[in-house]
Amino acid sequence: MNVPFLELLPAYTELQEDLDAAYRRVMASGWYILGEEVERFEAEFAAYCGVRHCVCVANGLDALTLALLAAGIGPGDEVIVPAMTFIATWLAVSHAGAVPVPVDVRADTYNLDAARIEAALTPRTKAIMPVHLYGQPADMDAILAVARRHRLVVVEDAAQAHGARYRGRRTGTWGDLAGFSFYPGKNLGAFGDGGAVTTGDEALAARLRRLRNYGSDRKYQHEVLGLNSRLDPLQAAFLSVKLKHLDEWNRRRVQIAAAYRERLRGLEGIQLPAVAKDAEPIWHLFPLLAKDRDGLQARLEANGIHTQIHYPIPPHLSGAYAHQGRQAGDFPVAERIAAEELSLPIGPHLAAPEAVAAAVQAVISTRG
Ligand SMILES: *Cc1c(COP(=O)(O)O)cnc(C)c1O
Repeated sequence: MNVPFLELLPAYTELQEDLDAAYRRVMASGWYILGEEVERFEAEFAAYCGVRHCVCVANGLDALTLALLAAGIGPGDEVIVPAMTFIATWLAVSHAGAVPVPVDVRADTYNLDAARIEAALTPRTKAIMPVHLYGQPADMDAILAVARRHRLVVVEDAAQAHGARYRGRRTGTWGDLAGFSFYPGKNLGAFGDGGAVTTGDEALAARLRRLRNYGSDRKYQHEVLGLNSRLDPLQAAFLSVKLKHLDEWNRRRVQIAAAYRERLRGLEGIQLPAVAKDAEPIWHLFPLLAKDRDGLQARLEANGIHTQIHYPIPPHLSGAYAHQGRQAGDFPVAERIAAEELSLPIGPHLAAPEAVAAAVQAVISTRG
């Protein structure tokens, strides 16, 4: 058996005709930054999410950073972030000039623990950034209730959750703003870097359009300190092709997750991710927790099943945040996930998910 963790080539092979046609159309258009193709994809992705505005940018980190800047967050401000996430969530806060303040995650869903947020608030807190980690929506009702009580902005990090739903409504529609990534390995991935911000607020969308383009609406008129963070029409055209297949591809991920869940339920030393009552995850990753994680990874590898770890070092223990002076033990749930998490192969083109699930079960249940 040889099961890669994730293959990107099959998506191209499956959609080659449409993708090649998109390539030829854009190349022949003579227009290579922003423009009509980008505007069309923005409208399509906004409609898909069920939100008014989508503003495409260069990558997911920029999407989150610009979302914070558009909301007026900067030096002197604090932003609540989950202690377990990809470090980009924290970096976006830092690059906006503010301070990320971690709150531990839940031991069952691995998402931000809303019950712990209030203890971390200070007079400087301006925003909360829930992450829909591994493709499972965060506990938005509870998070929004805290935000309303304390008049905080909510910026969703939806980089792993294109198409996931919470109480029937998609991620990217719950916060004041949401950031998406179109990194190739994400559920909706480009053939290069890409990102987007969604928002229901016209003024925020206008500010984002300015911020991504040198602070300018009109050529050589610069009203704010903008950046250069633009999506190119080639990526937008590719994303339009792939968006039509997102729901079907997410359904395949859900099937794979169900097969793993069925096979791995009740195995000793293994914890499966809980799904919150109101959440419909789209499983960007399928995270197991295993007491003997490294041993299990080696045994799976020896059996041709390739896994990854998301994420081995929580941001608060990373060199990048050494200046915050936090220590091992500060966020025990996040640290346990870092020590025990193992992501099984998952993706829309994983062949024979039942057979893979059976093989994983066989390896896990034969110890040593
Ligand atoms: C991928 C990711 C990002 C950043 O996206 P890029 O496009 O790689 O910049 C941010 N947050 C989370 C949770 C991610 O998984």
